[in-house]
Amino acid sequence: MERPSDWMRALESVEAYDGADFDAALVDDLHAAARHRPQTAIRFSTPTFKEYSGGELSGCSKNSFPAFSVTAGACALDCDHCKAKILEPMIPATDPEMLDRKVRDLVLLQNLQGFLLSGGSNRRNEIKYERYYPTIEKLKRDFPHLKIAIHSALIDGPRAKRMESAGVDTAMMDVIGAEETIRDVYHLNRPVEDFETALAALCSTGMEVVPHIVIGLHYGRIVGEANALDIVSRHMAHSLVLVVIMPFYAKPGTFVTPDTSAVGRIFLEARRRVRDRPVLLGCARPPGMHKRVVDAYAVMAGLDGIAFPADGAVALSDAIGRPYQQSHACCSIKIGEGSVVLKSCAA
Ligand code: SF4
Repeated sequence: MERPSDWMRALESVEAYDGADFDAALVDDLHAAARHRPQTAIRFSTPTFKEYSGGELSGCSKNSFPAFSVTAGACALDCDHCKAKILEPMIPATDPEMLDRKVRDLVLLQNLQGFLLSGGSNRRNEIKYERYYPTIEKLKRDFPHLKIAIHSALIDGPRAKRMESAGVDTAMMDVIGAEETIRDVYHLNRPVEDFETALAALCSTGMEVVPHIVIGLHYGRIVGEANALDIVSRHMAHSLVLVVIMPFYAKPGTFVTPDTSAVGRIFLEARRRVRDRPVLLGCARPPGMHKRVVDAYAVMAGLDGIAFPADGAVALSDAIGRPYQQSHACCSIKIGEGSVVLKSCAA
């Protein structure tokens, strides 16, 4: 019988992986790729807008980086994977005064460090934040320490500049690499090029730009991910966040959960194509043993950070000699020494 490789043995040594099914060929490929790069530290982020209670790391109880939705729970696209459900846990801020009041209260009461501004999109996958910019300017003037992130959705050059001049620190958008996914899943009649144009517009500003790629967005199948990675690799984004489709938001029977090996292969490709910037695993991904296995692949692929790491990630890092650190912010934004992973809205 063939002997397990070093990293397969490392996986077997981690109790959290009892009963897990790892792809030995993929593990070997991950190990081979790791030999050609330095073993850098991995950051385990536990952002505060979601409850977290992993067995290996504890979450932070302070509401120091919440998410606001400018449309509350409404969204005109109603994408098949989301049905606007991602907006539900966000704090409604349907007018600028509401945002101003809530942010000031949170600064006073909860030591607010920053926030994410998001919302549902219109039928063109755009979110009009313009009326919020005077409020953001005032908030930044009064509380310069606040880090402000926005889900930009699709945007053009002038609107990206306006976002920057309001004082927004970080802009995030989902990059989709397949026309059929845009059409079928998003119900959106726009070409892939519009996503690249929006990314280019954001990258031409001084904001930190953090594109997201949703692995398995096409009903759980891998379709446009490689193209999306190529798009990201062509622009000087600050970092890339990968998330995995969560089909339980969708109509039953329409999505499958992507195979963990397929997800691990995307991690391998992402690390290969986006070498010079951080690649992070964001907080949206299927739970349970799927998450443990996916997180293990992320550790082995050399991703730079994981939000809400599943049990086993810390022990595996130890077992393969990867140093790690914990941060209480979203991994898309830097807060002091920490760095912040936001849920991907695709908006
Ligand atoms: S992914 Fe974004 S655009 Fe699509 S339904 Fe959800 S909130 Fe709306």
